[in-house]
Amino acid sequence: MTFREKSAPAAGRSSANTESRSNGSAKKSVWEYAPSAESTDHILLKDKYDLFINGKWVRTQKYFATINPATEEKIAEAAWASKDDVNRAVLAAEKAYNNVWSKTSPKERAKYIFRIARIMQEKAREFAVIETMDGGKPIKESKSVDVPLALAHFFYYAGWADKLKYAFPNQDFSPIGVVGQIIPWNFPLLMAAWKIAPALACGNTVVIKSAETTPLTLYKLAEVIQEAGLPDGVVNILSGAGDTGAAIVNHPKVKKIAFTGSTEVGKLIMRSVAGTSKKLTMELGGKAANIIMEDAPIDQAIEGIINGIYFNQGHVCCAGSRLFVQESIKNTVIKKLKHRLKSLRVGDPLDKNTDVGAINSKMQLNKITELVNSGVEEGCTLFQPECSLPAKGFWFRPSFFTNVAQSNRIAQEEIFGPVLSVLTFRTPKEAIEKANNTQYGLSAGIWTDKGSKIFKMVGAIKAGVVWSNTYNKFNPASPFGGFKESGFGREGGLQGLKEYLNF
Ligand code: NDP
Repeated sequence: MTFREKSAPAAGRSSANTESRSNGSAKKSVWEYAPSAESTDHILLKDKYDLFINGKWVRTQKYFATINPATEEKIAEAAWASKDDVNRAVLAAEKAYNNVWSKTSPKERAKYIFRIARIMQEKAREFAVIETMDGGKPIKESKSVDVPLALAHFFYYAGWADKLKYAFPNQDFSPIGVVGQIIPWNFPLLMAAWKIAPALACGNTVVIKSAETTPLTLYKLAEVIQEAGLPDGVVNILSGAGDTGAAIVNHPKVKKIAFTGSTEVGKLIMRSVAGTSKKLTMELGGKAANIIMEDAPIDQAIEGIINGIYFNQGHVCCAGSRLFVQESIKNTVIKKLKHRLKSLRVGDPLDKNTDVGAINSKMQLNKITELVNSGVEEGCTLFQPECSLPAKGFWFRPSFFTNVAQSNRIAQEEIFGPVLSVLTFRTPKEAIEKANNTQYGLSAGIWTDKGSKIFKMVGAIKAGVVWSNTYNKFNPASPFGGFKESGFGREGGLQGLKEYLNF
């Protein structure tokens, strides 16, 4: 770390009026970190990725470029699976289910899943770098969250594969068959692990589709699956766009759909599946309340707010995107938050010092910008720290709004970006009412010194996960999922296993 005097940076490319950015060139004393870029030399990537069907790489007609959102440079080409390709993958999964996987003993299934986990662990650094290159998230997050948690899910569910009768004692159950899984771009490898590991542990076979902007770590996982010797067709990995996902959903031989993504697409899928016997798990959007009571440990709460909304550029379904601060401490919290935001480092995701990386795609950047502009137009006050943004790539400054009304779009809609809406309350009852005033119900956070307040409020908040005096903590043994328009069904823990069995 170096200390030097420098001129205030240029305002960067965001056009919104902010409270903090200075246009002058006054000399300022700043602490600066020397760049510490993660090497990409050890990364083995192909120029072109075919589909992974029946244990082999299968060519298709159409391919698309997957780019690095921090540089806008093409990394590789990925196959765009057509309806015929989806059919091929589903038939391979069905054959593998009937001929091999349903006849493989639970103990043997466990061995394969452990093997996948161990090989992934050996390649952890490679996975982390590719996740960061393809998705834009800071390398320190891919290294410390995405990859270790993905591994942990494979290890955890490997452990359950031969103990299902203890997980569900005195119950008759059987695997479902071929399951279709559709995942988003915010945690590609982790979402794949959340879905593939319990499905395999329960004896199902899988057809999974990555999101259009982030196909690469799933294809790396396909390489691991090959290396682990998993029987052909047990896991089939496809890339493509919405039409590929729709073909999986509508395939008559797919017996269950596990979907993570937007509420809008979730509703489309539910409409398509209505009237069939397909099982569904839906993990959809969120607009979580992070509630700071006046007796909270404020400095810890500030870190919780930062982690809650700026982690992964706010591309997190359970992000603490609505901050509720008790009125008596509002000024202190806002002051500390502004101070903390100024120290967040925005830029090269491969730099180990970076806190906020690139926005995943141009489309997502446009969506964030549009919603932030709506906040300014509706009279809310925007705060953005002074920081210059790289000339290329997709970037958005970590931001927060004050003077927010509950009816404002930024307080109601999922922005899915590094943007926080700050609201206030006077009593715990008011906090609960305001926290529940949303179509979503995925997660929430409560910060207070009083255990009794935590228990009272946790019971009253309609959300699948409520963290107290922390935020965004995950463990494979803890179930995760929502209420209301945040979806249904659970992933993780025993509850996550149950979703992959017929009772
Ligand atoms: P989507 O919900 O569109 O995408 C999620 C996954 O579903 C992707 O793999 C996508 O494919 C696929 N998909 C798209 N259309 C269909 C369809 N008709 N049938 C089946 N599968 C389909 O999210 P987006 O990536 O478009 O993001 C849009 C917004 O959704 C974001 O701005 C954000 O607000 C929210 N979002 C929420 C997430 C969450 O976890 N809560 C995760 C991701 C997004 P493809 O990528 O190829 O289009």
